[in-house]
Amino acid sequence: MTMVKIEKLYKIYNQNKANEFTALKDINLQIEKNEVAVLKGVSGSGKTTLLSIIGALKKPTSGLLEVDGEQVARLPDSFTSKFRSQKLGFVFQSFNLFNALSVKDNVIQPLIPLNLKKDEIEQKLLKALELANISHKKEEMVQNLSGGEKQRVAIARALINEPEIILCDEPTANLDKQNSLNFIETIKELKALGKTVVVATHDSLFEEFDFIDKIIKMENGQIVE
Ligand code: ADP
Ligand code: MG
Repeated sequence: MTMVKIEKLYKIYNQNKANEFTALKDINLQIEKNEVAVLKGVSGSGKTTLLSIIGALKKPTSGLLEVDGEQVARLPDSFTSKFRSQKLGFVFQSFNLFNALSVKDNVIQPLIPLNLKKDEIEQKLLKALELANISHKKEEMVQNLSGGEKQRVAIARALINEPEIILCDEPTANLDKQNSLNFIETIKELKALGKTVVVATHDSLFEEFDFIDKIIKMENGQIVE
């Protein structure tokens, strides 16, 4: 089953202005359910733009984008956020956590709009913390955690809605080698759970693992191999 299908996709920033810039050019790409795909390329090659479009955070200028059978770019904005919260989990380079809140309060953030019962929240929380290997820090303030632990909190938050697809943007950029390897191990576990994972990275560590199904190389907004 195809999870992400992209055909002839373009992203032009500031279209028809003096600073017009084509960030994605004729992108054609297919990612199957349960695959781990790595978008690689130097800074500025278009990885974040492509990941943001797959994650319905940005709209393409033209072309086809289907995520789990849905033509995401055609959804009205009010549906896009619902789509995101049901299908997608995001992990960012800078973790994007609230430092002054506990691990628990950070991880349950994506559940807030859903108005779930307390028991249900607790159950989802425990499961996500366990998957991300950070249960022991549940009550700790995020500001007291190491970089590796913060990234595990971010993973737990990305998993709490039990998304089909997890999108990671430079997830190891602020991690040392051991924590990067731990992160990669978590991706392997997500694949074992049937998830689809897309990682944008310029970290060459990601090239060496046989559970990675696709390495998509980007250069100047185009896929080159
Ligand atoms: P990467 O993640 O591979 O570093 P990006 O997708 O962030 O690449 O950026 C690709 C190109 O698009 C860069 O040249 C960047 O300056 C440009 N770009 C990204 N976002 C915007 C924006 N909002 N407006 C204008 N240009 C942008
Ligand atoms: Mg980027």
